[in-house]
Amino acid sequence: MWADERARTAPVIPQIDLTRQHAALKAELLAAVERVLDSSRFVLGAEGEALERELAALCGASYAVGVASGTDALRLALTALGIGPGDEVITPAFSFVASASAILHVGARPVFADIDLDTFALAPAEVERAMTPRSRAIVAVHLYGHPAEMDRLTAIARGRGLALLEDAAQAVGAAYAGRPVGAWGDAACLSFYPTKHLGACGDAGMVVTDRADVAERVRRLRHHGARERYHHAELGWCSRLDELQATLLRVKLRHLPGWIEARRRLASRYAALLGGLPLALPVERPPARHVYQQYTVRFRARDTLARALAELGVETAVHYPLPLPAQPLFREIVSSPEQAFPRACQASREVLSLPCYPELTDAETETVAKAVHQALADRVKCES
Ligand SMILES: *Cc1c(COP(=O)(O)O)cnc(C)c1O
Repeated sequence: MWADERARTAPVIPQIDLTRQHAALKAELLAAVERVLDSSRFVLGAEGEALERELAALCGASYAVGVASGTDALRLALTALGIGPGDEVITPAFSFVASASAILHVGARPVFADIDLDTFALAPAEVERAMTPRSRAIVAVHLYGHPAEMDRLTAIARGRGLALLEDAAQAVGAAYAGRPVGAWGDAACLSFYPTKHLGACGDAGMVVTDRADVAERVRRLRHHGARERYHHAELGWCSRLDELQATLLRVKLRHLPGWIEARRRLASRYAALLGGLPLALPVERPPARHVYQQYTVRFRARDTLARALAELGVETAVHYPLPLPAQPLFREIVSSPEQAFPRACQASREVLSLPCYPELTDAETETVAKAVHQALADRVKCES
């Protein structure tokens, strides 16, 4: 059979499939939407406040402030932490763009540090190396749901008097040394973008923090800098989490612990089925508790593997094809990414995210694993 015919006939397993989640929760979600329509309160109301309380509790933090997106959560938190022009903020060389672009948005300068190739998180030794007298903050990203080394990063930040901001956009529900992500830094940012493991039906985000001053400032900043209605203390933004998203998220939040368990089961199933292959599988390095927002493997001939899997009916994704210092957006601030960030560059060449969602069945998991075995066997045949 020709490869393209095979692709047409094979059942496609999508890399992510939100329709299954929404089909299962449809009645609950519609009832929640109806409640908000009946109340006709759409911005800054009881649902948003309840969601803030629930997520603060989940993250082990005293306060949570809902905003319009994860990117805004980063931007507003940085401003609330006093970061601005002239400041440097250390952030990983491998992440989603917002972990660094938010720093530019507040007028500060992102300083990239290389990652640990096993966990894809900031390498603490690289953070030390990136430090200058202008360093003011560290953004620790818990990429794919694996927490960064928060004990060491907290010690570095404290020792140097820097603010520590957790980008927990991919890791709500994860923990490090038994303490939830979101409870480690001065503040943490959550994203409820639809494809995140706690996703809204649109854009939404949140800042969680133990610091009353940071919470109060973010509350003001998200609402035109208003301290009270129509009294504007400072220049703010319009960045609120609306009641419809809040109510939908509250329905989903009740299922999050079960979903995380299902993701962890899926990861151990993959590990059992894919062990022994020449692939680097995701690790869960103690004392981290991974939530597998993605199940991302590394392979030298990543693009060949992705094509072979597509022909076998398995969709994959590349998060992310470029290290941040190689993005044209940051060209002004970095000259030679390959030299300075070898591990971030290697990650961007090698990462491949397999289908990963709580609703993936055991049979589908086996189909994916078989396809990986076959794709690698075909490749070995081709090369010998
Ligand atoms: C998704 C994401 C963001 C941004 O969140 P949005 O809600 O899409 O603005 C920031 N950082 C990381 C690591 C993300 O994955």
